[in-house]
Amino acid sequence: MKKIQMVDLNGQYQAIKEKVNSSLSTILENSAFINGPDVKAFQTELEQYLGVKHVIPCANGTDALQIAMMGLGLKPGDEVITADFTFAATVEVIALLQLTPVLVDVEPDTFNIDVAAIERAIGPKTKAIVPVHLFGQCANMDAILALAEKHNLYVIEDNAQAIGANYTATNGEKQKAGTIGHVGSTSFFPSKNLGCYGDGGAIFTNDDELAHTLRGMVNHGMYKRYHHDVVGVNSRLDSIQAAVLRAKLPKLDEYCSARRDAARKYNEAFAAQMHIVTPKTVNGCEGICDTCDCHVFHQYTLKITNGKRDALVEHFAEKGIPCGVYYPIPLHRQKAYLNDRYEEADFPVTNQLVKEVISLPMHTELDDEQINYITATVIDFVNG
Ligand SMILES: *Cc1c(COP(=O)(O)O)cnc(C)c1O
Repeated sequence: MKKIQMVDLNGQYQAIKEKVNSSLSTILENSAFINGPDVKAFQTELEQYLGVKHVIPCANGTDALQIAMMGLGLKPGDEVITADFTFAATVEVIALLQLTPVLVDVEPDTFNIDVAAIERAIGPKTKAIVPVHLFGQCANMDAILALAEKHNLYVIEDNAQAIGANYTATNGEKQKAGTIGHVGSTSFFPSKNLGCYGDGGAIFTNDDELAHTLRGMVNHGMYKRYHHDVVGVNSRLDSIQAAVLRAKLPKLDEYCSARRDAARKYNEAFAAQMHIVTPKTVNGCEGICDTCDCHVFHQYTLKITNGKRDALVEHFAEKGIPCGVYYPIPLHRQKAYLNDRYEEADFPVTNQLVKEVISLPMHTELDDEQINYITATVIDFVNG
């Protein structure tokens, strides 16, 4: 059996090696490292793929979120509601801009932000909601957009984990994750579903005026060379990363489909298990199909409900199976984000999830032998 990896970046590279190597050598020869033609070309190609009017490339997914919030003109003291169960980048940029993060609980089956909890957290200072499309599946955008409209709030989608996923609205219309709210962000960190070979990110919007603001903000607030109209940042996608992304974007649907295949096999193997809860797919179909593309499985995350999660992590290490616990500590209990307004009773789901979740190896190169070995190891151990 091939060695099992959590993500297999080299396997993916081998399949696009010629294209990547030739674009990289062109860039090295031309030496247009920043703002070269590949950046603009990638921007246009991604706009077409997502069906969004504007893609603004930038340096990473954390910057993308930060710049999106700057572009919306959020001011110190404004409250921004986001999920307690996510990667810290989401809350970090809110705090960094001196906005007030308001963390709320998530749903137990999808791991995504709980709309009822958002509603309870809305107050006079609330200005925005940041749903995170966790592990590859969209949050309940219909309900979130309705709440946002009712209370006049911005919706900023943190789409670092769900690029390529579709969201099917209740009216049947499909939209790509990240293009549904006022603005969306993504990350091209190497292990993300569309990853480059360093850091990269992008912001998406259908709003022409906001797009213009954001394009200047990523480049020192310059709209005309050496005229600085607003305070900006230095956050650019470089030409080398853009070239890698151009080689990978045409394969993104194929990558998503390979991930779904692996998820389907995992689901089947765990279907009859009492103490193992498989991830729930919503927003399209109940199973995992390739027509609705509703889940792109950035992570395949189980809940181990009989208290053996931590022991399973150790057992995996002995068996040569990598795994991840995303996320082991709720954000509301992280030192940097403690706030007197939070009560433990407000976070029953996150507090439980951090004890039960485990993410299995998930990438485009997993084979049946590896999947069978992983699933047999989990089942034997959890029932043992
Ligand atoms: C990866 C990630 C980010 C940050 O992306 P970087 O490119 O690493 O800055 C933000 N939010 C979520 C949910 C992520 O998973």
